[in-house]
Amino acid sequence: MTRTVLVTGGGTGIGKAIAAAFLADGDHVVISGRREDVLLRAAEELGGQVTALPCDVTDPEQLEAFGERLPDALHVLVNNAGGNREFDAPPPGDLRGLAERWRANLDANLLGAVLTTAAVDKQLVSGGAVVNISSFAADRGAGSYGAAKAAMNSWNIFLARQLGPRGVTCNVVAPGYVEKTEFFRDRRSEQFHEARVAETMVGRAGQPQDMAEVVRFLASPAARHITGQVVRVDGGVIPTR
Ligand code: NDP
Repeated sequence: MTRTVLVTGGGTGIGKAIAAAFLADGDHVVISGRREDVLLRAAEELGGQVTALPCDVTDPEQLEAFGERLPDALHVLVNNAGGNREFDAPPPGDLRGLAERWRANLDANLLGAVLTTAAVDKQLVSGGAVVNISSFAADRGAGSYGAAKAAMNSWNIFLARQLGPRGVTCNVVAPGYVEKTEFFRDRRSEQFHEARVAETMVGRAGQPQDMAEVVRFLASPAARHITGQVVRVDGGVIPTR
């Protein structure tokens, strides 16, 4: 059976690898993101049954229109869009700057997934799956970004309860440090990379494909009895407080 899979943020990095994994299984994959040029380039590179549909997941109006353009039946939703808008803290006392950064991270990493799921709710079919991409940052005291991802982990349990009776599983994949994506584009240095790798038990950085394989499993019939869970895919990093 050909399934329809939606991957938000599917034009780059982890999302693009997730899209490739489902395409390899013969599924129809819709990739979304804000930049149409990036999506179109990715669609061309990915090949297969892929549809590029631009949409900002933090914008309810865009999402309403987006939901209507999707096929009637959606088998897998991967809420992958996100990123850290708060690498640099504002100066002490700058409450407006602080509010701006917190809102941006909560919007991109939490509300975006909540709104996207609501926008496609009626299309989600029995036997389907929602996979939310959180982060190991949820357990690392990582400011507004970590707080947003921790809230996503919590919301996932609520969602699993809500969609369970409809035969839809909901799980979180929490990546550790994953190289070769746009996420750390302003942070890349040999020193930073080495420090992240040294935190792992396996002595290597995560690759987008490492995340994609686990997402694919969680969305497969083999994982039908797994729901409401957080799977850390971080090469074995001890949570820090
Ligand atoms: P990327 O920056 O490559 O991917 C993020 C994707 O999300 C982009 O395609 C971006 O596209 C899209 N996106 C961001 N904001 C929005 C929005 N408002 N609406 C729609 N799309 C949006 O980084 P990664 O692939 O690394 O990140 C993917 C996910 O993995 C994120 O949720 C991130 O938090 C998480 N993660 C990544 C880690 C890493 O080490 N790389 C570690 C832990 C978690 P566009 O800009 O065109 O909208």
